[in-house]
Amino acid sequence: MKSLKQIAYSVFTGLLLVTSVANAEWFDRTEAIMGTQVSVQLWHDNKAIAEMCMDQVISEMHRIDHLMSTYKSHSELSMVNANAAGEAVAVSDELFELIQLALELGVVTQGAFDITYASVGKHYDFRKGQIPSETQKQAALSVISIKNVVLNEKDTTVRFTREGVRIDLGGIAKGHAVESAVRLLRANGVESAIVTAGGDSRVLGDHRGRPWAVGIRDPRQKDGLVARMPVQEEAISTSGDYERYFEADGVRYHHIIEPTSGDSARSVRSVTVIGPDAIKTDALSTGVFVLGKERGLELIDSLDDFEAIVIDQYGEMHFSRGLEPGA
Ligand code: ADP
Ligand code: MG
Repeated sequence: MKSLKQIAYSVFTGLLLVTSVANAEWFDRTEAIMGTQVSVQLWHDNKAIAEMCMDQVISEMHRIDHLMSTYKSHSELSMVNANAAGEAVAVSDELFELIQLALELGVVTQGAFDITYASVGKHYDFRKGQIPSETQKQAALSVISIKNVVLNEKDTTVRFTREGVRIDLGGIAKGHAVESAVRLLRANGVESAIVTAGGDSRVLGDHRGRPWAVGIRDPRQKDGLVARMPVQEEAISTSGDYERYFEADGVRYHHIIEPTSGDSARSVRSVTVIGPDAIKTDALSTGVFVLGKERGLELIDSLDDFEAIVIDQYGEMHFSRGLEPGA
């Protein structure tokens, strides 16, 4: 038999629980940053703190965009592109470390994820329907290689071995941004949140006792979903041929470029990678897209902690070993 005191205590704690749950609620915000939609959703019992947290996330996204955008001529990354062929350029630890990781992921993906793809990438304009000329393409291909980027860890400098080398962090910076934003939320005591930048999401905790459900888009139907992935304390990134593209003579030109040909990668329509870190899932989704279904899934199966879903050029879904039905 419970004593009166025990009953009173459990009623009291029950009430406390009810009150705190009743006060807590979801807060969310969406803005256009980094050429895409950035959003944050979090659970909190204090509106002022929730708003402050969301302000911080948005500022963090702007800060990283100003550092790493190739569209901003004064960004730190643009300074590297303008000067690193002539001299070693000193950069912030943050940019240095991200370039270093990008080069490492270049090795992991056997050259499929290659930030020097930008030598040819800069000649594409998907809004204007512009592609490189054959001459531009051939000139660019001769300088595309991660070996042409030399890092000096002691002085945190970046140098290009040749003229014409360009780097672009479009396939990894959004992952870095969501990862940084989630770190800020965690430091502020937030326990349940999701931060998304374009195709890259990082979740903190779960969604009120259940995993978060992140939708995988149907590559050929805007607003259509092919699956919902349960994620918890994880990152999920999708690279698709529908984000930035145009079609000419029945050919789809889109923003994921094969470093070997300088042309858009066309063997698959989308790649989703799930793993512990959004920086890596971001770069891997782009890299696996370039590698294609077989080589891409083989790579993911060789890595601990990462899983992938590939939608091929016929719309068929393929899974890495850990996601196969019955796995
Ligand atoms: P998004 O979320 O913008 O759709 P993805 O993660 O799919 O981005 O990566 C595509 C972006 O990566 C391109 O817009 C470009 O900036 C960059 N990119 C394209 N091809 C490559 C490549 N082979 N290696 C590294 N980065 C690439
Ligand atoms: Mg990516």
